[in-house]
Amino acid sequence: MSDPTSPKSDFIREIIATDLAAGKHATPITRFPPEPNGYLHLGHAKSICLNFGIAQEHSTLHAKCHLRFDDTNPEKEELEYVESIKTDVKWLGFDWGSDLYFASDYFQFFYDCAVHLIQSGKAYIDDQTAEEMRANRGNLTTPGTPSPCRERPIAENLALFASMKAGIFKEGECVLRAKIDLASSNMNLRDPVIYRIMHAHHHNTGNAWCIYPLYDFAHPLEDALEHITHSLCTLEFENHRPLYDWFIENCPVPSQPRQIEFARLSLTYTIMSKRKLLELVQGGHVSGWDDPRLPTLSGIRRRGYPPEAVVHFCKRIGITKFSGTTDVALLEFDVRDFLNHSAPRRMAVLDPVKVVLDNWSAEPLAHVEVPNHPQQPEMGIREVPISSEIWIEREDFMEVPEKKFYRLGPDRHVRLKGGHIIRCTGYEKNAAGLITLIRAEILPGTVGADSPEGVECRAAIHWVDAATGSDAEVRIYDRLFRVEDPDAAEGGFLQVLNPDSLKTLTAKIEPALRNAAAGFSCQFDRIGYFIADALDHQPGLTPVYNRTVALKDSWGKKGGR
Ligand code: ATP
Ligand code: MG
Repeated sequence: MSDPTSPKSDFIREIIATDLAAGKHATPITRFPPEPNGYLHLGHAKSICLNFGIAQEHSTLHAKCHLRFDDTNPEKEELEYVESIKTDVKWLGFDWGSDLYFASDYFQFFYDCAVHLIQSGKAYIDDQTAEEMRANRGNLTTPGTPSPCRERPIAENLALFASMKAGIFKEGECVLRAKIDLASSNMNLRDPVIYRIMHAHHHNTGNAWCIYPLYDFAHPLEDALEHITHSLCTLEFENHRPLYDWFIENCPVPSQPRQIEFARLSLTYTIMSKRKLLELVQGGHVSGWDDPRLPTLSGIRRRGYPPEAVVHFCKRIGITKFSGTTDVALLEFDVRDFLNHSAPRRMAVLDPVKVVLDNWSAEPLAHVEVPNHPQQPEMGIREVPISSEIWIEREDFMEVPEKKFYRLGPDRHVRLKGGHIIRCTGYEKNAAGLITLIRAEILPGTVGADSPEGVECRAAIHWVDAATGSDAEVRIYDRLFRVEDPDAAEGGFLQVLNPDSLKTLTAKIEPALRNAAAGFSCQFDRIGYFIADALDHQPGLTPVYNRTVALKDSWGKKGGR
């Protein structure tokens, strides 16, 4: 079990193993059933990793995971979402093969099951108003009151249901309810509505239907029709399981799926509900569904989170029955850890100050050779141009160096990463006391060589050649919310947006960064991980980089800016 990439076993995997051992199923079949009414987020990634992961782990048995669009509600769904969901599942590295389904293809089957329930005396048309139905449902201490329609004869129910389907009624005039148990302590069993009238156009079936099944009714039927063995959902459906089982028992279904619930993923500093994410998008609080500050998979992709890190994170947090909130720093740790191994290094200066190398002509090198990764020689080396003027980070110079500050200061030495040791010979300040220019000299012959006798040089700093470097727009992203639990904020999550969640600055970058393709991900030496923006970065013309994650977690220390 020491391999961190192999999934930890959990209670769901144990149930599946037991079912297989008992010969209940030849192979597990799971499903990921998104409703196409928004973009996928990190919570969905947890569900994707679980469902597709189980199928992968049983590949020798030809296990499968279906991608099923739960598109039974015509009002909120759009094709744009279907495409984005497919893209996101593939991006995480999963493949549904030929098992792509749309619940809307099963409308006739749902209808037939409803007719079957009516014929068995287990469903009736109710024409009470919604308020009447609510009032008659009772509460935890009082049983429900039967609707005057509850004992309607089967033939009349069948005729009315056919009329509902034929479009004779207006929305809300009547509904189909399952006849279960008005005294049940589980409110979900008190004759739930299973079909309602909606005169709405559906993206798949057009105007063919004007009655639509409710989720609790449709979902078990979808699972059964697809021969799903284990239907994995989040804990809020635990109370719905008796209803799920009731539909499976009472409808003419071809298989008996089993629903198992697990805890949903919630993260600190993060909103994880499509409805709320939509509010952020529509309210213009972010630039779109793929804003790099959002927990949407399209957002974190644009932010530069590698899918491998997300999958690893999902494995690490595991699957439990207990809800809790996971520290978002754990995810950031995985991102940093993955990129530390995989991301090539480049040089950029975010807060530049110019250094003039006064004796440059003493060693007319056109470039120095810099390794692309400090531990991975197979990543090669690149030629970084250098000339008599370079940019360094303002914080790498101190006029009066503090103890333990080993970088540049008056008469001090520092190494230019991959290049020479230089010595500071002077500096200029403006009226406000800001350093405007640093003068230095190179120590000839020190490229790739140890410090000469008597020269103390204990640090290497990154730099960018002024002649060949260029400006880039760099977007420094931070947490979108100021507080750990934005959902609990007084006045709602919009009240606790972090005003500093995006800072844009102009940085100096080396030519390799200017010319990199959109989506190029790397470490800016000593600063953090960055990615060339998928939309706005134009290689060679307008470089735009997004900060994926800082090199170190500085959040706690700064006390929640
Ligand atoms: P949201 O609450 O964000 O609207 P949802 O549950 O309505 O999400 P669906 O499209 O219905 O979104 O979800 C598809 C699948 O993803 C479901 O099986 C659901 O249980 C699962 N899922 C959604 N959110 C999470 C989460 N935070 N953690 C784990 N699984 C989740
Ligand atoms: Mg939902």
